[in-house]
Amino acid sequence: MRGEKKPRLVMKFGGTSVADTTRLEGLVVRVRRELEAGYDVAVVVSAMAGETDRLVGLAEGAVRVMDGREYDTLLSTGEQVTASLLAMMLSDRGIPARSWLGWQIPLDTDGRHGRACIEKIGTEGIERRFSEEGMVAVCAGFQGVSDRGRVTTLGRGGSDITAVALSVALGAGRCDIYTDVKGFYTADPRIVPKARVIGEIGYEESLELASSGAKVLQVRSVEMAMRYGVKVRVLSSFEECGGTSLVGEGEGGARMEKQVVTGLAMSTKECRVTLAGVKDVPGVASEVFRPLADRMIDVDMIVQSVSKQDGKTNMTFSVQSEDVDEVEKMLIRDREKFPYEELSIDKGVVKISLVGLGMRSHAGVAQRMFEVLAEKGINILVISTSEIKVSVLIGEDYGELAMRSLHTAFGLDEGE
Ligand code: ADP
Ligand code: ASP
Ligand code: MG
Repeated sequence: MRGEKKPRLVMKFGGTSVADTTRLEGLVVRVRRELEAGYDVAVVVSAMAGETDRLVGLAEGAVRVMDGREYDTLLSTGEQVTASLLAMMLSDRGIPARSWLGWQIPLDTDGRHGRACIEKIGTEGIERRFSEEGMVAVCAGFQGVSDRGRVTTLGRGGSDITAVALSVALGAGRCDIYTDVKGFYTADPRIVPKARVIGEIGYEESLELASSGAKVLQVRSVEMAMRYGVKVRVLSSFEECGGTSLVGEGEGGARMEKQVVTGLAMSTKECRVTLAGVKDVPGVASEVFRPLADRMIDVDMIVQSVSKQDGKTNMTFSVQSEDVDEVEKMLIRDREKFPYEELSIDKGVVKISLVGLGMRSHAGVAQRMFEVLAEKGINILVISTSEIKVSVLIGEDYGELAMRSLHTAFGLDEGE
């Protein structure tokens, strides 16, 4: 009977899962199954595989200075195509459905084009159609609307955060993220063939892995899921499997058998920046990093070492490749404020990270990591550690070898 409140479910499908109409046909089956199980369903879709990249390429090839407002309007069209097509197909197969673009929901964001943050989601319209018409809401992921009424986008991979935020706003009991692999793995299965699916993973560990390069979930979406305790599952849209559930610390049975290292990740988007011969006086680090922080540039690993000359220091840090040109310009511009002898930038590096809650109580993980890399003749350029993570920067040619060797050495290979 309509009018009664049913449990709610958000299902998100990524690019490969919506790549063509044959795949969309598979989604219709999955949505129908959940409706029959008694849920009101909101679906979040990405653009078809490769479409967002194609749109980025069009814009970059056409203009020198990008207008963020038009760029976001262009990029958001990918998700509009899939949302409307899927809504059409569902209705045609006897399932009442309506598409919702960001501004129609409305999903309100700030005005930071290209990486907007969600401020509020109005769910009244979707909820009314749930209760009055039993209608499936097919929402375009990755997009919102600013207070100036312009279309915004939420950063690459942003459909994940649309799904998590919508789950919070709708009070959904579950948020199922369907993708092209069978769940959250101990390492990217395309790099480490022996990687295995992690049945249950803590929010904190998944956040560390995602921010270290495991792109299966967008970092901000995990942050939000953790903050609101959203019951996220990562599932395959191609195979029936248990997938991965995100759980809070102490929740979930499988966590009792936890390994010291839960998983590893590689980030290929790193660059190493070194300022050699900087004057070693109080305040110099603040002078170097303040302008970067003001521009919201993320600086990850920082090492300060003694220079051969008295009163001088060397500073090495890593930044994302997309920011490195801007960082270089700023450091050259500010040379008068913190004189240095030489600036060098190395773009041929990757960052490998080991993550595990068990590291809190087990010493020696970093040491074992260094040993394994030494055995393979891999030189470590920069090291950083936190409570549950150890990261190293190494030459990009050694990235895959390091991932596979570490995966084996920490007992993570399938079948062990
Ligand atoms: P979608 O389009 O569904 O959002 P993504 O391409 O964003 O999918 O994310 C899925 C991809 O993430 C996988 O194909 C896989 O290669 C990669 N990946 C990286 N690290 C991991 C990991 N630890 N577990 C699973 N997949 C991972
Ligand atoms: N289509 C967007 C992207 O490729 C958002 C997403 O797929 O999550 O980044
Ligand atoms: Mg993704």
